[in-house]
Amino acid sequence: MVATNWDWSRDPYGRATRELYDLGELLNSSFLNPDKLDTWGWDSISNRIYTTKGLTKLINEKTIGMGTNAKGTMKNNLVPKKVEVFIWRAMKKCLPVRTELDKRRIDLHSVRCPFCDDDLESVDHSLLSCTKAVEVWNKVYGWWGLGRLPNMSLEYLLQGDVRQKCLDSGKLIWQAVIWVSTYLMWRNRNHAVFKNKCWSTPVALSEIQIKSYEWIAKRNKGMVIDWHNRFHSPSCFLV
Ligand SMILES: [Zn+2]
Repeated sequence: MVATNWDWSRDPYGRATRELYDLGELLNSSFLNPDKLDTWGWDSISNRIYTTKGLTKLINEKTIGMGTNAKGTMKNNLVPKKVEVFIWRAMKKCLPVRTELDKRRIDLHSVRCPFCDDDLESVDHSLLSCTKAVEVWNKVYGWWGLGRLPNMSLEYLLQGDVRQKCLDSGKLIWQAVIWVSTYLMWRNRNHAVFKNKCWSTPVALSEIQIKSYEWIAKRNKGMVIDWHNRFHSPSCFLV
């Protein structure tokens, strides 16, 4: 027990009383060893040695790893971490769309969709149900020989639209393509809002194909993806 003699000019009261009690608990559970030098320790890792790798692992477990529940796993090693984090935010509706900014009392000229102006701009509208988004999704589905975008929730889509009949080798690739498409859709939404740049649907598909190939081919260790034979005609990934 640490003996503490306080010399208050004014006795603590209110919240400070609780904080003083907590401080006392902390001090009582601390032991000073006069034979050892002071050192810094990293509390969250068992050996108490800080590494950036350890910190990255911890952040991933606390953020992306949270998706291993009813909403399905949020990991897909075929895309960069920034895309995984973006998808996790989209699943949790944590994107700064206009309706969310409005809820936080940010003064906006309009809370309607900047593309179609037909509806309020929510995460689901922006990434799935907006006519602009549907046009892009239809192109992506058409590219894969899957017809048009089926009626589904954003969560279902981001899980990789599991109803689609992909071969096992194609399931992760299809999900990665969906994630890259969603990520680029949001990036281009921001370019339209903040830089006044429009995004045509053919250009959208071309960008999605190029980025998907660049990211997936680099990370897919199990299969050499040839652009013309596989990625340009990805129906070979289907049953
Ligand atoms: Zn819209």
